[in-house]
Amino acid sequence: MDETQSTGVAQGPVAVVTGARRGIGRRIAETLAAEGYDLALIDVAAADETEKAVKAAGRQVLSLVGDVSREQDVIGLAEQVYGSFGRVDVLVNNAGVNLITPTEELTGADWNRVLGVNLTGTFLCSREFGRRMLAWRRGGIVNISSLLGLQGAPDRASYAVSKHGVVGLTRSLAVEWGARGVRVNAVCPGYVNTDMNATNQARGFYTAEDITERSPMGRFAEPDDVAQAVVFLADERRSGYVNGVALSVDGGWNADASWRSLRLSKR
Ligand code: NAP
Repeated sequence: MDETQSTGVAQGPVAVVTGARRGIGRRIAETLAAEGYDLALIDVAAADETEKAVKAAGRQVLSLVGDVSREQDVIGLAEQVYGSFGRVDVLVNNAGVNLITPTEELTGADWNRVLGVNLTGTFLCSREFGRRMLAWRRGGIVNISSLLGLQGAPDRASYAVSKHGVVGLTRSLAVEWGARGVRVNAVCPGYVNTDMNATNQARGFYTAEDITERSPMGRFAEPDDVAQAVVFLADERRSGYVNGVALSVDGGWNADASWRSLRLSKR
């Protein structure tokens, strides 16, 4: 764990975003900064570009390097964030890893790695930041689950189990902590235009057309589609009575029982 940059005590609301170096996490951080949040960025490598963007938006930023699946890292990260900012209003558990492999060939080590980052990481960060939010009797946690937190798909057992677990954790914490001022919600994105997807397509797991044909809106999600939903769930003025939801941001994918020809006939 390594601290790369720090600024003074926060004047306004503070958000922590894990996996903030690129992709959806980066866009979430930028969007929260534009909404007036100071930002603590957490990633396994320095989130330099995100840090620059947050500064350019005129907000304070603390960029920390650490692994959310490692308990001692997370304990230290939370201490550093509170030591620098003195408060956390919103935690966004976004850090995640993807794995596509037939389950009959899935190793225990890979299973543990995916569950470790996606689910245990979400638990550890929620516990460390949530504990302090409960003491403050105020705060919001937004977990990034997935379409695969609501449905299964072949060759994605570890990922889908981890993301179903994130939905289960979200509901559990929402009912455990809601009366003490801490709301916990999840976002379940469909296929988002990020490096994670580009890698999967480059490896031949699916084509862009596979996704756009299946999606009722005929396109991938953009990171901003997810970020706007996160901002809504983070902001108690906008979503103060929303607690324990798994909000699909999937263009209607999860709602769609139609078949290919019927779906395409509507375009
Ligand atoms: P991404 O481009 O791979 O970015 C994920 C970020 O998390 C990376 O910067 C990554 O670091 C970081 N990270 C990975 N393991 C970490 C750990 N142990 N501790 C701290 N940071 C860690 O992924 P993305 O597409 O933006 O996805 C973000 C989240 O959305 C994930 O939870 C993902 O499962 C979820 N999601 C994505 C999609 C999609 O289609 N892209 C759809 C549904 C849900 P490295 O750069 O070192 O890998």
